Amino acid sequence: MKHEKMPLSVAVQASRPAGEETQAGPLAADVMNIMEQGILVWSPDGVCEYFNTRIFDVLDLKGGDIEVGMTRATFRARAMSLGEMSPENNRYSEQQIAVQRPYAFDRVLPSGRVVLTHGRPTRGGGYVVTFTDVTEARKAARDLVQAKVDAEAAEARAHAVLAQERARQHEEKLLSQLDEWLQSCKSLGELFTIVATFMAKLLPDSKGELYIYSNSRDVLDGMCNWNTVDLHDTIAPDSCWALRRGRSYEFDSEGLCFVCDHVAAHQHTVPVNEYICVPIIAHGDTVGLLHVRFVAGHESAARIGNSSQFAIRCGEHISMAIANVKLRDELHDQSIRDPLTGLYNRRYFMDAIRREIAIAARRDASFGLISFDADKFKTFNDNHGHDAGDMVLRAISETVRDVMSKGEVACRMGGEEFAVLVPGASQDETMALAEKLREAVSLTQVRYGDGTLPRVTISAGVASFPRHGSHPQQLLKRADEALYLAKDGGRDRVEGAKAP
Ligand code: GH3
Ligand code: MG
Ligand code: MG
Repeated sequence: MKHEKMPLSVAVQASRPAGEETQAGPLAADVMNIMEQGILVWSPDGVCEYFNTRIFDVLDLKGGDIEVGMTRATFRARAMSLGEMSPENNRYSEQQIAVQRPYAFDRVLPSGRVVLTHGRPTRGGGYVVTFTDVTEARKAARDLVQAKVDAEAAEARAHAVLAQERARQHEEKLLSQLDEWLQSCKSLGELFTIVATFMAKLLPDSKGELYIYSNSRDVLDGMCNWNTVDLHDTIAPDSCWALRRGRSYEFDSEGLCFVCDHVAAHQHTVPVNEYICVPIIAHGDTVGLLHVRFVAGHESAARIGNSSQFAIRCGEHISMAIANVKLRDELHDQSIRDPLTGLYNRRYFMDAIRREIAIAARRDASFGLISFDADKFKTFNDNHGHDAGDMVLRAISETVRDVMSKGEVACRMGGEEFAVLVPGASQDETMALAEKLREAVSLTQVRYGDGTLPRVTISAGVASFPRHGSHPQQLLKRADEALYLAKDGGRDRVEGAKAP
């Protein structure tokens, strides 16, 4: 092969320091040829003076691709035509050669191998170029870069997950605080105060209101609000898309959305960017509406992952709390009220008398007690049936409610026997109220089936504190004694307890 006959002495001479004459022998040629790198020496005018045999392997050269005497331009034309050497690298290295500076660049052979081409100027003005196969090194470097990118992406993902988890934990903490407070609410009134305080804390960059259906269910009443003065006294159920659609409604000014009428009606000075309406559902019934408006940039400040989702969760927790308070109210009501008439029961009434005795004793005041009983009710039941009798008992209760005006406590003691506590009243005032009640009952007409039932009268006995006793049982006994007097006196009348 041609390259085996190259004049090594010329090459060694070209690359050695000027002025030092050495004789390259066969040993030096062997050393050059067994090196890992290909070596090529250019004369100052760009003509090949020397190359080692290794260059053929490193650069995938065939005989004739490089020869002593070949110009650098010819050698490079081949590399450029194969795409091994880019025009940029050609330009760059020529520029470096022009100013006698080293250059280095990678060439990628058609086989895919990468060869680092490193030219260094010699003192005589020529260049020694080394060709090093760096395929593995470059791949390792690429892998390293990729590994770094992957690691960074994984770290970013971990950060995101961590941030999400922190936001979730923060939300959980806030919600459990909210729950703790909501669970200690004794009334809906207290609950609304807590909702307003907490929502301002939980979603500081939001404004909102809470509405609850009125008993008639034709409107919702405004109950509380936070971070805003906006609160409608009432809103119509069909003014809200969430109530109309039966699920949370998220308004996003950039989406295809319609503003709820109750929101538009506020005519906000700040434009509405985004809001959410969450139906409040207790025991399966929609009982109200949580409305939350967001101001721009709210996500960052709130430390909450997703404010809308969080608002929905707040709505769920508020729903649960309202359901609990309602249930508790109902249970409490059941424990103190008579189911037929809705009046208080005997147990509650006895407590009420005890409380009133304590209050009146402290204030040196009086109060009255009316005990009354339906006249000849057994006969009425026998003649008209138990259902008709129940209707009358309910009608009597209604009349009691109508006659009562200020703080009286009415109770069904049992059967057709009732009692009324009249706080602050004297014996005479209580007698007057009992008389009013007797008359009202005697005038009450009860419709039953197609007709009206015969009127039922009551007989009443009146006692008062402190005149007739200072214990509940004592006072009730004196009122009952007066009631028997009324019965004995012919019924449909009121009697006062006799002086002790
Ligand atoms: P008096 O004028 O002396 O009070 O006569 P009375 O028949 O009302 O007296 P009595 O106490 O003997 O009868 C009470 C009747 O009230 C017995 C029962 O038929 C009726 N009664 C008691 N509880 C109820 C109830 O929950 N519903 C109905 N419909 N009737 C009741
Ligand atoms: Mg009776
Ligand atoms: Mg009776």
